[in-house]
Amino acid sequence: MLIYGSRATKLKAEPIVYTCKHCQSKNTTTMVMFQKYAHVFWIPFCPIKKLAVTQCEHCKQVLEQKQFDPELKEIFAEQKSTLKTPIWTFIGLALLIVLIVTIIQDEKKESAENKVFLEQPQVGDVYTMRTKEGNYTLFLVKEVTKDSIGYWMNNYEVNKISGLHKIPANGDSAYLPITVYMARKELLPLLDKGEIHDVSRKK
Ligand SMILES: [Zn+2]
Repeated sequence: MLIYGSRATKLKAEPIVYTCKHCQSKNTTTMVMFQKYAHVFWIPFCPIKKLAVTQCEHCKQVLEQKQFDPELKEIFAEQKSTLKTPIWTFIGLALLIVLIVTIIQDEKKESAENKVFLEQPQVGDVYTMRTKEGNYTLFLVKEVTKDSIGYWMNNYEVNKISGLHKIPANGDSAYLPITVYMARKELLPLLDKGEIHDVSRKK
């Protein structure tokens, strides 16, 4: 379950030049400024907006922002322009951006690696293949010659890529021991078409 919402943190409390409309006392009002921010699991995610309330120290009347008269609204606008948004309210957003950038870089690295593995195939490489029916299976490279590769097909197909980890992938017994040959020059086009989804090579 995703828990999210908004919270507010106090930025400052400032006495203001203002006559309380409730008790008519001069300069007894304090404006308290808040930063409202979104949180996800109580981790600050991003700032939303600045808010204020006022309290008259004399009559104790508290006014919320929606009750401000034009004079208070103007003071609020002035106060707001002097206040910086605390940088920590961006933590979640910053983390999310870092995460996305990392995932993109990893994918780029992986696709570059796949290309290298297909240009220079090795016995023992395992190809994650998407079949014409849209299922997924594994090919195990058993032979590499100058122009072609010979591979064995896995005994199983799964309909979702996330199911691949459930099928036996290692060892000859996971594969049908019939060698099928394919021209090496066909490998990269298959990667481009997405029929070869991934290549893994034991380090
Ligand atoms: Zn007052």
